Amino acid sequence: MAESPIYLDCHSTTPVDRRVVDAMLPFFTEYFGNPSSLHAYGWQADAAVKKSRATIANAINAQAEEIVFTSGATEANNLAIKGVAEAYFSHGKHIITAKTEHSAVLDPCRYLESLGFDVTYLPVNPDGLVDLSLLKNSIRPETILISVMAANNEIGVLQPLKEIGTLCQEHDILFHTDAAQAIGKVPLDVQAQHIHLMSLTAHKVYGPKGIGALYVRRRQPRVNLAAQLHGGGHERGMRSGTLYPPQIVGFAKAIELSTADMVGESERLIGLRSQLLSHLNQLPDIYLNGHLHQRLPGNLNVSFSGVDGQRLLLELQPIVALSSGSACSSMSTAPSHVLKALGRSDQLAYASLRFGLGRFTTEQHIEQVGSAVVKTINTLRTL
Ligand SMILES: *Cc1c(COP(=O)(O)O)cnc(C)c1O
Repeated sequence: MAESPIYLDCHSTTPVDRRVVDAMLPFFTEYFGNPSSLHAYGWQADAAVKKSRATIANAINAQAEEIVFTSGATEANNLAIKGVAEAYFSHGKHIITAKTEHSAVLDPCRYLESLGFDVTYLPVNPDGLVDLSLLKNSIRPETILISVMAANNEIGVLQPLKEIGTLCQEHDILFHTDAAQAIGKVPLDVQAQHIHLMSLTAHKVYGPKGIGALYVRRRQPRVNLAAQLHGGGHERGMRSGTLYPPQIVGFAKAIELSTADMVGESERLIGLRSQLLSHLNQLPDIYLNGHLHQRLPGNLNVSFSGVDGQRLLLELQPIVALSSGSACSSMSTAPSHVLKALGRSDQLAYASLRFGLGRFTTEQHIEQVGSAVVKTINTLRTL
């Protein structure tokens, strides 16, 4: 059997950290209770959920009661965007977001357009950052929500949350941020950054898939949300459904581990990224996608002129698992909407590689991948 390729696709998902698995295991069998039950089994599970809620809240400087558990960031984004639209439409029906958002933000926005809402999709600067003066000029009296992501899943660019939050505060607009890629990797603070709603997920930071959360501000101001799942009234009525203690405990453990070592791990990843970039810099005609410094430590996204994107990925597949610049979801073969928003041509958008470095990436991995990519590009360019 051939060896498994090196995994450099940490923006898609990450393996669950062994310590997270160990924390989860007792909650499948020993402490299996329903946190809503009023007996010893329920109380045990409820205590674990409460503790996890506090850990997750603490990581973003929120209160435990402000965390609403969901199945992941897709659901959290849907709850935030549709929930605000439904609760605040009498104040106005205008929403602002950016062209480089994840489909889990763009698609709920498009859905709302079909219901008569008006959505502005802001273009971004060539480095992927939102232009704050353009954002400010797009605000209307009827704007109820601005949704701009914390960290981009393709190009890793970190948006200026604090500046956007301040703008929202000044104009009395709710601010939602999709922080699926940012949590556990860069500092987040819902107070300092004036955030009203924040989407989180566990599986991009070495936690299990199928669990995430929406932070919903309770004070100054108290945010109202229309529930999108109705039922037993769990999670302050905002998201019904029996809570899932093993996933919740694992989510909290994953957040605890990644926030505890955020500074050291960032430095290590930036070192590995520089090592990778110096390999790639041996090649002429390459284009870095996204701001070099204002980005996630583990992200590098590069376009290569003069090669076919699909062929490139195919050649690299036995050596390294990573993603390219075609819309990966569904069966679509369209070029990445994020790279197109940076102004890249279709060819450069297709012929791009997204490197997602993570906790288990080593210098040896980077050496192997770096030389394989350089060699492959050189070969493809001579064809
Ligand atoms: C992965 C991701 C999502 C979707 O999260 P799930 O928990 O898989 O639903 C949403 N937004 C961004 C930016 C992501 O990277």
